[in-house]
Amino acid sequence: MQYPDWIWHNGDIKRWQDATTHIMAHGLHYGSSVFEGIRCYETPDGPAIFRLTDHNKRLYASARIYDMALPYDLDTINAACREVIRRNGLSRAYLRPFAWRGLGGFGLSAETPIEMAVATWFMGPYLGDEALETGIDACVSSWQRFAPNTIPAGAKAGGNYLSGQLIAREARRLGFGEGIALASTGLLSEGAGENLFLVFDGALHTTPVSAALLNGITRNSLITLAHDHGIEVVERDLPREYLYLCDELFMCGTAAEITPIRSVDGRQVGTGRPGPVTRRLQELFFGLFDGRTPDRHGWLEAL
Ligand code: PMP
Repeated sequence: MQYPDWIWHNGDIKRWQDATTHIMAHGLHYGSSVFEGIRCYETPDGPAIFRLTDHNKRLYASARIYDMALPYDLDTINAACREVIRRNGLSRAYLRPFAWRGLGGFGLSAETPIEMAVATWFMGPYLGDEALETGIDACVSSWQRFAPNTIPAGAKAGGNYLSGQLIAREARRLGFGEGIALASTGLLSEGAGENLFLVFDGALHTTPVSAALLNGITRNSLITLAHDHGIEVVERDLPREYLYLCDELFMCGTAAEITPIRSVDGRQVGTGRPGPVTRRLQELFFGLFDGRTPDRHGWLEAL
């Protein structure tokens, strides 16, 4: 990875190598950080950040769940996101605003200062260049997602991603592109870092927020685009075996965008090629960035 020159940290723009925190920071020991992942796309009207404000609102929501009072407001973080992209001369980029409990005493409930930073870097397709076209091979993970009222799945917090790492690393070790997790109920949850959509008879089926998942902004965008274009969407509990029965299957997220799944646990999905509903949603979604899909909901926020 080639690191960009500039990063925003605690209110200042700093050189990448100068943006440091103390090794005894609470966040490093106890997973007490919250973060976002956001993409900036090149559009015919110039670079635009996709749902910048909605993502950063979720950052504040994650912080609220963990009782972290963030030291900068939403407008400041939105402005910092724009500034780091501009300063680094990027346009197609991934943005990582984050906050963590810093250095200040010891112990789980220590009231440490909270630090904030925004990093950015160039990013192409997350699951490989071919993944968007051909789809990936996925497996059901031997690791389940956290049970209700243990670790809140609805927060995008650093510690949650210990679960995601177990799922993703196991999948890669076994030769799969990504892992799909079950909830503690044994019903389908989501991918290591992506939400899940199944297609049956032309309708989209996706797992509900009660299934230990992050309420993804891409998921919400696809549900909205589907409604706008007359595609039926059903949010419902789904048993594992439906993965083997559906006509089409894909994952979605800021990093993964819309990644088709061509097989699960060695069983081919549909024809083994991305199906018509997946293709249509890819067209509608990527169309937002090349002008083919009108931005009816004000999702593109100019740089
Ligand atoms: N689930 C998890 C666990 C994730 O990490 C992500 C990526 N942020 C998603 C779902 C998708 O969320 P979004 O579309 O908001 O990026």
